[in-house]
Parts: sequence; structure tokens; C-alpha cells
Amino acid sequence: MKISFHGAAHRVTGSCSLIQCGDRRILVDCGMIQGDEKAPELNREDFPFDPASLDAVVLTHGHLDHVGRVPRLIDEGFTGPIFAHPATGSLAEIVWRDSVRLSSYQGKPLYSEEAVEKTTQLIQPLRYADPVQLGDVELRAYDAGHILGSAHVLVSYQGKRLLMSGDIGQPDTPIIRDPNRQWDQPVDAVVIESTYGNRLHKDRQATVDEFKQIVTRAVASKGMVLIPAFAIGRSQELLFHFNHMVDSGQIPKIPVLLDSPMAQKVTAIYRAHRECYDEETWAQIDRDDPPMRFPGLRELVSADESRAVEHMAPPAIIIAGSGMCTGGRIVHHLKYFLDRESTSVLFVGWQGYGTLGRRLVDGLDKIRLYGRSIEVRAKIETLGGFSAHADREDLVAWASQIPGPPAAFLANHGEEDAAQGLVEAMTKAGLSGCQAVEPEQSFEL
Ligand SMILES: [Zn+2]
Repeated sequence: MKISFHGAAHRVTGSCSLIQCGDRRILVDCGMIQGDEKAPELNREDFPFDPASLDAVVLTHGHLDHVGRVPRLIDEGFTGPIFAHPATGSLAEIVWRDSVRLSSYQGKPLYSEEAVEKTTQLIQPLRYADPVQLGDVELRAYDAGHILGSAHVLVSYQGKRLLMSGDIGQPDTPIIRDPNRQWDQPVDAVVIESTYGNRLHKDRQATVDEFKQIVTRAVASKGMVLIPAFAIGRSQELLFHFNHMVDSGQIPKIPVLLDSPMAQKVTAIYRAHRECYDEETWAQIDRDDPPMRFPGLRELVSADESRAVEHMAPPAIIIAGSGMCTGGRIVHHLKYFLDRESTSVLFVGWQGYGTLGRRLVDGLDKIRLYGRSIEVRAKIETLGGFSAHADREDLVAWASQIPGPPAAFLANHGEEDAAQGLVEAMTKAGLSGCQAVEPEQSFEL
């Protein structure tokens, strides 16, 4: 068995690993490269393998940086099965269609709507603990607790077992289960993500408490509360918390507007896949309190409904994309509400350099939007603790309970410092064969 890293080495996007088991070639993830000025060209570069020569593709989860380039494989001759958890298949389809829509605004799309159509037809289910046989290779998925349907994938061939972590969730993420801890077979080598390999998150409960305090204060000032949020995972988590706040009377029953067509589609998939829920969420459903539905929640579908928000009487809470205010309906709301002192803008995710979100977090008092200069009088709040990723401690704990013990831990999906930080922490915890992978590096098992 051999693994080669063709993406997400020294970086957190563009995941793409090729596993060769004898003559069989399996690609795990094929994500979009993001957050790099050269990304548009990098995403168009030739693959360092022939897509037509692949026997199968496996998807660990539906985020763009793990699935974004898959339709390109089909355009370039891949015709085999794409194994994914059913929730991942549904999320990936939304992500691909959104990517076609976005890239058609920016010039030449990376792939066509037809390619997406063909891609979705190749998807076959890979459910948790329901292994799939591909000749003499076995694929087994375990819950990764990162987003709905996310999976660690165990690849077994001739007595060797390689575990691909995919993205590993933070324990206690609402709605979905925690990352798997029940392993039924020993593992020889592990590829482990290292996004936060050198950092620790703030305590989750403290973050939720702080979030609730900020929202309560913002609502009390009787203005609009704007929350830029990504469509997959974070938006559903926010709905989960608002559900609790409304039910427990922490905030009055004011309109909570989910103003993102993509987040609405994703939320529908989250609502449909109850088999992925954790025990707390099931208990909540048993009490007849579904986790992402509550009085006051409105999903704004059309652009007209979204524009009508300008004329609404505050207070109201508006959750809209994009998460870094680089586009989407949030930008229109900022244009109308940023110059009001009663407005609060609450950032619940990391803001990339050069984005509008980052400029607001950095405290600019004037910004230009649609050719107009706008004074920022709104209160800008940032909350750092929400994350869909395990931190250094969680990663080491996750790695330490894998039976074998594995002879190698290969850290990918992290900036160089983060991957190196995780390697040091895992080595210190007594794990053997820890190293950070280099771009295009291969390992023989
Ligand atoms: Zn992810």
C-alpha cells in the first residue's frame, strides 16, 4: 500500500491523497485550494495523476476544500464510483452547484453544471460501520464529528490498515456526534489533519455563554444583529443555540432570519439526516423540540424577501453568508445597517486577510461598499471560540486511542507550524513515527 499527498500538505485546503493498493488506485478527497492569490490557477493545474486511471474516489466530508475539484476528475475521464456518506453526497452537490454559480461570475467556471450532474450520478453510499468492498480493498467509515456526514476512512488491503482522519471535529459540537472512539480493528498508519495542531481553543461552554451574552446585549439595544456565517455547519449550530435561547426565554421572541439560500438547503439536509444526531439532540426531539426549528425563525428565500429586511422594524437577528463578508446577502445588510449605532455585527468565525470581515474586525471606521462610503457606527463584536476542528489537545487524545498501536502518524491539512506543532505534541505523548508530510510526498506501508 502506498499513499501520496497531492494537496493539503503545508496548507489547510485542496485535500487530495492518492492511495495505491496493488494495481488499485483510490483518491481520498479532491478539494478546492482556497485563501491563496494563486488559487484560481492552482485549481486549474493538471492533476499529477491521470483521473481516468482511478478506480474510485472517497469523500471524507462535504466542505469545498475536500470536494471542490471532484467534477474536474469526471471532466478528465474518471468514470468510477464516488463513495461518500449519503449526507456528504447531498452537501457536496450543493457545494458543487454553488461553486459553478460563483465561478461563472468570476469568468471561466472550473467545471460545468453538466459535469456536476454526471458527478452526482457516480455517488454511492459509504455509511458508518457499513464497509464497502472494492475488489480486495475494504473501505470503512467512522463518524468524524466535524460536520454532518463527516467520516474518518479506514482503507484495508492485504492485512494492512491505513486510517485517513479527514477533518476531525471538536468534541461537544451541537447536533452531531463526537469523533469516533470505538475502533474495532488495529491500525498500521494514520493520516491526521493538523489545522489547529499548535493551538488550543477556548472552552466550548465558555464560548457558548459568551455568545449568548453578546446576543442578549445586542437584542436589548433594539437594533439589528447581523451574523455573517458559513452555510455548512456554523449556520446550523447558530440555529441550535438560538433555539435554546428562545425556548429558555433568554431572548424575547424576535425574528431570527436565516437569509442564505445555501444555508437553507444545508439546514434541510441537517434536518433530514437524523441518523447522524447525537444523544442530546435525540432527547430534544423526544421532548418535541426539534433542534433547528423555533418560533420566530424565518427562512428568507427570494432576493425580494431579503431586500425587504431594510424596511423591517428592529430588533431582529439576521444570519447570512458569506462568513467573511466577501459576497452574499450579508453585504447588502451591512450597506444598510452599518452606519446605525443600534446595529451589532457579530463575527463567529475566523476572518481571512484582506476580506471585508477582517477590515471590520480590525476596526475600520469607514468602508466602501458598492461605490459608496459608509461610516461604521455599528458595534463590532468578535467571538473566537467556535470551531469545527479539534484543537491540539483533542487531536492528541484522538490519536492516542487508536489501537495498533499505529507505526506512523502523518500530519497533513495544516500550515507548516501547525503540522509541526502537532508532530511534537504527539511525539511527547508517546506516539511513534510522527511526521509532517511535504507536498507531493509518498509513503510506502
Ligand atoms: Zn472541513
